Amino acid sequence: MRRKLVVGNWKMHGNHRANAELLAGITAARPFACDVAVCVPFPYLSETAVALASTDVRWGAQDCSVHEQGAYTGEVSAPMLSEFGCRYVIVGHSERRAYHGEGDQVVADKAKAALARGITPIVCVGETLAQREAGETEAVVKRQLSAVIHALGPCVGEMVVAYEPVWAIGTGRTATPEQAQAVHHTLRQQLRAATPRADDMALLYGGSVKPDNASILFAQADIDGGLIGGAALKAADFVAICRAA
Ligand code: PGA
Repeated sequence: MRRKLVVGNWKMHGNHRANAELLAGITAARPFACDVAVCVPFPYLSETAVALASTDVRWGAQDCSVHEQGAYTGEVSAPMLSEFGCRYVIVGHSERRAYHGEGDQVVADKAKAALARGITPIVCVGETLAQREAGETEAVVKRQLSAVIHALGPCVGEMVVAYEPVWAIGTGRTATPEQAQAVHHTLRQQLRAATPRADDMALLYGGSVKPDNASILFAQADIDGGLIGGAALKAADFVAICRAA
């Protein structure tokens, strides 16, 4: 059986004080039956690393550059993240795709840059509401995943994939367990064609996961945990979601 993974995506939230309280709340609730991680804003990586160093809670970032170094103002590279002990980096989040124009190839290159430094990319895929209503969900997520599969080659099995329907992110509108499972199954099949490790890979669901819907989502055959936004900012909620996994 695959071990479940719950990852908090703090997005652009937090401050020194709130972070310390949140991390203390999470670490105090250990042990968890699943793997747990938080992906925090870049400036807070250092304090997060200090707070979590002696625990089994992992940490990571929310984006990385495709480049290792150079004249790329404002960018942060995978080698830098690695110096801060990042285990994960989210790539291709729909907010980056929408607000920063990141296309499938850039997302794939970011995943490759992360893995080259031993950081597990959490690759996000997901359709917009218009795409779902047009019956394009499967084609969209397959296209998004396909670019990453090609870029990673034999390392495909080392990534984590997060299915995040854009219409469910921060909206309070969750995909039904059946809708989510159907897409996860499609993604798993696509991964099976690409790597013998597909059945060991973590496929996370994200999009308005809350303490009261986490258990039923995580009970689906191909849902191996969650990528949690809003509910990751309150220790009690995040811990409840981890307990559901
Ligand atoms: P949400 O965000 O849980 O607030 O919907 C999830 C995400 O964007 O990763």
